[in-house]
Amino acid sequence: RRAEFAALRDLPSVTLDGQRIELMVNAGLREDAQALDLVGADGIGLFRTEFQFLVSATLPQREKQQRLYKDVLDAAGDRPVIFRTVDIGGDKALPYMQRDEEELEDNPAMGWRALRLALDRDGLMKAQARALLEAASGKVLHIMFPMVSEPWEYDQAKALVEHQRQWLQSQRKKLPVAIRYGAMLEVPALAEVLDILLPRLDFLSIGTNDLTQFLFAADRAHPRLAERYDWLSIAILRFLARVVSTCHAHEVPVGVCGEMGGRTLEAMALIGLGVRRLSITPASVGPVKAMIRAVEATELERFLKGLLETGVSDIRSQLTAWAEDRDI
Ligand code: PEP
Ligand code: MG
Repeated sequence: RRAEFAALRDLPSVTLDGQRIELMVNAGLREDAQALDLVGADGIGLFRTEFQFLVSATLPQREKQQRLYKDVLDAAGDRPVIFRTVDIGGDKALPYMQRDEEELEDNPAMGWRALRLALDRDGLMKAQARALLEAASGKVLHIMFPMVSEPWEYDQAKALVEHQRQWLQSQRKKLPVAIRYGAMLEVPALAEVLDILLPRLDFLSIGTNDLTQFLFAADRAHPRLAERYDWLSIAILRFLARVVSTCHAHEVPVGVCGEMGGRTLEAMALIGLGVRRLSITPASVGPVKAMIRAVEATELERFLKGLLETGVSDIRSQLTAWAEDRDI
């Protein structure tokens, strides 16, 4: 079916009933930006900036960061690139960042990582903000923060970027034409304060990899647990349904950037929950687009609503049957 997916490259990502679904890709390296054209994606929905830090033997200097961001933006052209600020620490430890013995963690995934670390080591965050601002001069800069757990963390991170913007402005440097700020929803607690957070955001991106590990208290990398909890479980889908409808009520664009969105059946469920933006691995764009072009979003929404209300336990087989009935 590869040739079939390749033929879809230039066809729009629209459901049978005319709902446009944005299909973006997850990336992290300079070379990944080329995948955009290869698969015909709408942009980069998650650029994992920590990759550069992880593959480097020493802390990448600001100029080096800036070059990478600029190259990626150039490759993307008019399409948006959502840069996620560094998600390091915990299991993504940097060899060149010293840690004291007492800083070793029992639960690195829930530890001092991502925005928590970046706000404490704000020199790192300031340099990255400057690199991003300068790389995106004359363009729109999309920036999002990982592992936001409480609204104040988002506020502080945004203030830090704004401070750098003002400084650059005072130096008469050319700035981005606009900055769009977003947060990742990966920590379940954030879902309970969305009414407070959403009015301050330009977009929300749901990171289902971390979110499901925290919802089920199940290590995402643990081989014995990998098959145990289904992304199509009623708990996850009900949780996501609430988040998505809260975003709609606040008119804040919401997308999913975890691996869940790259699996055809899961992506189908997400569309049924009202998700209209997916950021997935490039290889999934073809199969997911083929599915999108074969479903009716409103019918899918009705079906999902019914399943979640009645509390069907095996949503996966129900969705599979639904898809088979329609030759999807
Ligand atoms: C996620 O947690 O779902 C996510 C997209 O981020 P990462 O996989 O990089 O933790
Ligand atoms: Mg994550």
